[in-house]
Amino acid sequence: MAMQQDYVERAFSDDAHGGVCTRTRSKMSASERDESGRQLLTLTALGSSGNEFFRDAGIVAERIEVDGLATQRRHFELTEFFVIGEPDACGSDLVIEFCRSRRPELAVAAKRVQANLYAVLWQVSKARVVVTDNVERIDEIVDADPESASEWISKAWLLFEGTVAPKPPRFERQCKPCEFSSRGGCPYPRRGSIPSHKEMKRIADRFSR
Ligand code: SF4
Repeated sequence: MAMQQDYVERAFSDDAHGGVCTRTRSKMSASERDESGRQLLTLTALGSSGNEFFRDAGIVAERIEVDGLATQRRHFELTEFFVIGEPDACGSDLVIEFCRSRRPELAVAAKRVQANLYAVLWQVSKARVVVTDNVERIDEIVDADPESASEWISKAWLLFEGTVAPKPPRFERQCKPCEFSSRGGCPYPRRGSIPSHKEMKRIADRFSR
């Protein structure tokens, strides 16, 4: 928690209004939208997976996608953990998760899980997932599935407890954009060993100082 102290403090200040912070984005003007479109083209041309232009392109693409839409931040207590979340957009009966990826067909699996968790925990009936690389676009709306959400929370809990060891990414290069890799905290990219739950806590503590 110390690593994201501001974020945590903001989330807990939401308790003053029922634990929910609704944020409505103002809609871009036509010229702002055109300018964002131009920025996205430039950053897309400069970006390759994991570099800062690629990440910035993702931010601009998301800004265009959720232009004018509202979202809600909420938090939940899970024994020693606090789960804080904010879907990319949130309507009266729908959450939206957006992702820009070089491999939409792979990224969509994780986004489906995340969007469903938001839908169930935010108590709306539908989840929309949008994953794009600017050429291919996966855009789907599914019914919230509480059973699947519960299974994923149980799996996460086993990891938190240390009962189950985390699996490494399929390819080491997937560690490149990870903060724990770039700052040398995680042993996996250097030594090929996945940190245990205890080690992960130690790494997180070290990073928070
Ligand atoms: S650097 Fe470590 S924590 Fe980051 S993605 Fe790779 S294995 Fe996971």
